[in-house]
Amino acid sequence: MNDRRQRISEAVDRLEPLLRRVSAAIFEHPELKHEETFASQLLANELETAGFAVELGVAGLPTAVRAIHPASTDGPTVAVLGEYDALPEIGHACGHNLIAAGGLGAALAVGSIKNEVPGTLLFLGTPAEEGGGGKVTMVEAGLFDGVDAAIMFHPDSHTMIGRGSLAITEVKIEFFGKPAHASACPEKGINALDALIQTFVGINAMRQHIKDGARIHGIIRDGGVKPNIVPDYASAEFYVRAIENAYRDELLETLKKCAEGAALATGARLAFTEVGHAYQAMKPNRVLGERFLEHLVACGIPHNPQPDAAMGSTDMGDVTQAVPGIHPYVQITEDDVAGHSREFADAAASERGQRAMLAAAKAMAMTAVDVFAEPGWVSRIREEFDAS
Ligand SMILES: [Zn+2]
Repeated sequence: MNDRRQRISEAVDRLEPLLRRVSAAIFEHPELKHEETFASQLLANELETAGFAVELGVAGLPTAVRAIHPASTDGPTVAVLGEYDALPEIGHACGHNLIAAGGLGAALAVGSIKNEVPGTLLFLGTPAEEGGGGKVTMVEAGLFDGVDAAIMFHPDSHTMIGRGSLAITEVKIEFFGKPAHASACPEKGINALDALIQTFVGINAMRQHIKDGARIHGIIRDGGVKPNIVPDYASAEFYVRAIENAYRDELLETLKKCAEGAALATGARLAFTEVGHAYQAMKPNRVLGERFLEHLVACGIPHNPQPDAAMGSTDMGDVTQAVPGIHPYVQITEDDVAGHSREFADAAASERGQRAMLAAAKAMAMTAVDVFAEPGWVSRIREEFDAS
């Protein structure tokens, strides 16, 4: 390890008690998307104490954080990201408490030597990853403009650098029919539930003909109130995902046609609405990712990718489509543990989870310093971004 990396590593070691406290405090105060007042305030306070110029509440998001290190000169801009939202009922079952603490650790460690290197160091606290699209809003607000490298990590059962994420669109499907006594005068009714079921049947028939890795999955929200009333209203929510944004859009059209066909067949009226933020597919920057991995391995975390790892979706997809970025997965469990499970929440609070977070903080900080210190390497990061 060269001298600067050594000092980065020592800086994270000094920060360890603080980072463990931050990780535990956020874990113990799980907050849903856009309600992360405790976590965002905690991070803002620590960054401010370390001398960063901090704004809490940016891009119209009250729980988003933007912090700039005061030693800012001409040169590359690095944004270290932190997520901190939790899930309903199962709390930090995605381990975002570790992401927040690791991102804070990386930002503070780089900050400790920032006056030695050119460029601008940002910490961006990005709320509402779980379906709220905080990063999408922040990209649209221009908070990533001029960023040369956006860096975060995500805990997982495996350490994987190149795993992407699926583009996703959330859809609400509603059918409006006509109520009638289901036995005495069914001929006077229009059955909205039948239209909805027909939509599921239609899309299931299409599954044979869609590309591997795409996902279309839905649930029924409303399906009528009583068996002796022909349901006049039925609704479902669907997620449509694919590895490419364009194919996701194509599948969305397919789902819509199934719903339109069902409307035609039953006479029910269809409302097909895209809700929330669509997330773009992720393109992790390989040049950045490989360097991060070298540092991570040097910090004691082995690479153990899962070759057939299935993918979820994240608003980091939108960031990586806008600027070069990485979203590497770092192992925090012994065995395969499903994300968004109680077991994964336990892992996010475990000693192994904290150690992985500390190693990830070091590797992110070292990667950030390399961006500042190696101008030639920054152009390779940009070339790979432009080419992919
Ligand atoms: Zn997550």
